[in-house]
Amino acid sequence: MYILANWKNSLSSENSKRLAESLHTRIIGKYFNINIVLFPDNISIEAVSLMFDSASMVRVGAQDGPLGPKTTLTGSISLSNFGKFCAYVLLGHSERRMLLGETDEMIAQKAALAIDVGVIPVICVNKGDGTKIDPHFGLKAQLESILDHIDSKSKFVIAYEPIDAIGTGIPADPEEVKNIAGIIHETIFISRNVKSSPYIPVLYGGSVNDKNIKSFLSLEGIDGVLVGSASLTADSFLRIIKKVSDPKHYK
Ligand code: PEP
Repeated sequence: MYILANWKNSLSSENSKRLAESLHTRIIGKYFNINIVLFPDNISIEAVSLMFDSASMVRVGAQDGPLGPKTTLTGSISLSNFGKFCAYVLLGHSERRMLLGETDEMIAQKAALAIDVGVIPVICVNKGDGTKIDPHFGLKAQLESILDHIDSKSKFVIAYEPIDAIGTGIPADPEEVKNIAGIIHETIFISRNVKSSPYIPVLYGGSVNDKNIKSFLSLEGIDGVLVGSASLTADSFLRIIKKVSDPKHYK
């Protein structure tokens, strides 16, 4: 099971370090069968990453990645820092798609570059617009753009984050999430139906907390969660970790 923590731009560097230290003391060696990935802001990535250097259960990632190996881009993390300090990268978060106009093409380009330098992309997708013929047309288009740019042996992660569930305190209906997870797995399977393709985990994100997490963990096709607000304090994130690490809460 994956638990991803998107700290966005919510914490100062001091508070990011404090939160990471507290998690380090309270998590390492205590929980098993979970992959925790912390996504601090760019200023805090190095410190948080060095803190968890030897702890394989906790990895650190960037909240966005460089666009191209030779593209000069003001505001972007450098390719060398990216490859050195990040194990994962969040790409295509709805906030970036909506506020910055990031396109599927840009997201796919960033994902391909991340894979080239050994960073695993976590690609955020949303419901998208449907058509009369196919209500999931928009979602599938987001996925297909990625699948077209990434070779079928590469590993990545998909995070389904419906826009109206992000930061609202109102999570999506678990039945709908299960249905969408099925469509995501099917789209990926059809596109990369080769034996050497790794399993692509599908996560749910949007107003997840320790009270509602159980209804998402137990869903068929869901391999973990992406958590925003509830990952910003050690106490609240730890309550989530405890539930995820206890098999009675899923399957
Ligand atoms: C997010 O922004 O990726 C997110 C999941 O936020 P929240 O948990 O606060 O809805």
